[in-house]
Amino acid sequence: MSGLTIEGVTKKFDNITAVEDVNLHFKTGEMTCFLGPSGCGKTTLLRMIAGLEVPTTGKISLEGCDLTRVPVHQRDIGMVFQSFALFPHLSVGENITYSMRIRGHSRSDREDRARELLDMMHLPGVEDRRISQLSGGQRQRVAIARALAINPQVFLLDEPMSALDANLREAMQIELRKLQQELGITTVVVTHDQTEAMTIADEIVVMGNAKVLQTGTPMDIYKKPVDKFVAGFIGTSNLLPARMAGKDMVRVGETELKVGHVVGAGTGADQDILLMTRPEEVFVRPTDAGVPENAVHGTVSFVRDIGATIEILVDCDGHEVISVLTPKDWPDVRIGDAVTVEMPAEACTVLPA
Ligand code: ATP
Repeated sequence: MSGLTIEGVTKKFDNITAVEDVNLHFKTGEMTCFLGPSGCGKTTLLRMIAGLEVPTTGKISLEGCDLTRVPVHQRDIGMVFQSFALFPHLSVGENITYSMRIRGHSRSDREDRARELLDMMHLPGVEDRRISQLSGGQRQRVAIARALAINPQVFLLDEPMSALDANLREAMQIELRKLQQELGITTVVVTHDQTEAMTIADEIVVMGNAKVLQTGTPMDIYKKPVDKFVAGFIGTSNLLPARMAGKDMVRVGETELKVGHVVGAGTGADQDILLMTRPEEVFVRPTDAGVPENAVHGTVSFVRDIGATIEILVDCDGHEVISVLTPKDWPDVRIGDAVTVEMPAEACTVLPA
């Protein structure tokens, strides 16, 4: 099969199971992000793809060839580490072409390649500098250039932006994505930053507790999370305790609402569930403006105007619902006002309680 495949991979360190029975396929040329909280096994999975760890059980293959026990230096893979791991005693150019030297490429080939990569990374003319003479952002570009020096089939990055400040991080995310698309290289990035994953990924793999919880495009996962953990990890979500009242109906308190999407089995009549909506898909109006269909009642508990958007927090029977709107849609409500929160059926997802 083309691309990178992980089949039934488990990794144990003594009595700790860092990765448990992971099955994934990465299409050639796509960018995938491993997203999840600290300690869920993201880095261990990436290190197994790189060959820096050997799976306890399972198989990893690239373009149909079994890689599971191929040593790291024989894999056609480039990796950028969280700390960048550049060699301080080597020049920028020598850092970039280190793996080419190990593989016996001539000095002139190495120098040409270093210049080519530095041009690509918008850092021309720094090949003779020391690493200590570069800024954090420049070091990161050098680490990326080094990983790409041998034209690898797979490009791996472990939290590549975590050492950068917020503005630089955003700029680098866009640059990395453009570069990856230009090169068409199969890429896997570990991150715990959901915005980063949404910005750069074709596919997101959400992990928790050593397992894969969900895979899909950023929008699939945003719109149809499989459970409240995933919903909470990607974006802000409103979760209201409710009960099933029919195939596509739920009851929140005494109010019946139609829902657009039901996740998971076991959602029989009267079963406790969570009704999930996203803040930009629910609409707050004063109660005296009439009661729309598919709406719950509540009281405004806070209004936060941050210029480009306005957030309205509504207390619905002890549960908070957030609505985010643009200033032109402002419904003119204040703290303490009785309001309705319209939740159009297509915006309503039922998750297991
Ligand atoms: P973070 O975002 O904090 O880097 P992560 O999701 O990348 O976390 P891993 O670093 O893969 O998580 O770690 C997964 C689990 O395996 C953790 O409980 C960790 O302590 C454990 N672990 C990782 N490497 C080793 C090791 N070499 N020896 C023992 N335990 C390890």
